[in-house]
Amino acid sequence: MKPCISVVVPCYNEEEALPAVVQALQTQTDDLFTEEATLELILVNDGSSDRTLSVMKELASQYPWIIYLSFSRNFGKEAAMLAGLSYASGTYVTIMDADLQDPPSLLPEMFHLLESGVCDSVAARRVTRKGEPLLRSFFARRFYTVISRLSQVEIADGARDYRLMTRPVVDAVLSLAERNRFIKGIFGWIGFRTRWLEFENQDRIAGETKWSFWGLLHYAIDGIVNFSEVPLSLASWLGFFLTILSLIVVLFIVIRRLLFGDPVAGWASTVCIITFIGGVQLFCLGIIGKYLAKTYVEVKHRPHYIIAETNRRLPDREG
Ligand code: UDP
Ligand code: MG
Repeated sequence: MKPCISVVVPCYNEEEALPAVVQALQTQTDDLFTEEATLELILVNDGSSDRTLSVMKELASQYPWIIYLSFSRNFGKEAAMLAGLSYASGTYVTIMDADLQDPPSLLPEMFHLLESGVCDSVAARRVTRKGEPLLRSFFARRFYTVISRLSQVEIADGARDYRLMTRPVVDAVLSLAERNRFIKGIFGWIGFRTRWLEFENQDRIAGETKWSFWGLLHYAIDGIVNFSEVPLSLASWLGFFLTILSLIVVLFIVIRRLLFGDPVAGWASTVCIITFIGGVQLFCLGIIGKYLAKTYVEVKHRPHYIIAETNRRLPDREG
């Protein structure tokens, strides 16, 4: 029997792009899906406000291999990917953006690599960021440098969420039940043998990117907090350093008083010091608060997403 490849596509306001994705999967991977494997397409509607859901339903009525899941509201791409992965029944599973920025033409090569058994997952990495705003590219690159330094998990620059995985890899991704999900970090954390395929950045075929600059900045901070405890130690080290500094300053003032009898002058310097220390303390409290907030979200154990509608039976592994 031919192995089945499940393609998970998270969709948020992608009414224009969706039909093109289905078309591209049929044309660009023609040989793969007629001769070597069967296709299961899982479309996840992440609370879109446009006609995405009706487009999905139309497509699903046309093709029996399309499954759609529709969330009760927008839960974010991470939740949409998780839902898609838990519904996927294929031997191999991949996650693909709805805007064709992840070229389906790479699928046959990924499939052959996995079939030959040389690795457990084949991931795509873009080597250029052509067509992306310069400022965004700049900060994106800095983010990968910073997170690689701060965290033990390997996260490659330009890595996309697009990768073809074997069943054990998918099960490993699903076994991480955390509420604060950062899939790029999860892929690094679970290990397994990964091969990288490089490709040139593709422009979105339709619609607009869902990411604003601030949205990306929050995503970056969350990624670091989820996969590194270094900011917490940074707070302690900063406190330690300031304590040593203040001891030296106290010593300096005492000796100067004893030797030269200088009265301690000026309230300006005192105010500067107090505000500085106050600032540092609040900054460190903020870091601790961020981790505490994440812990709070974890212990509440809310489901990752809520499915309002689907054309498939719900699996046991829900939310
Ligand atoms: N997406 C989603 N939920 C969201 C935001 C985005 O499911 O809240 C999907 C979106 O439909 C697309 C993918 O995530 O399929 C990547 O989004 P986008 O193309 O906007 O990101 P970019 O490629 O610009 O990083
Ligand atoms: Mg995109």
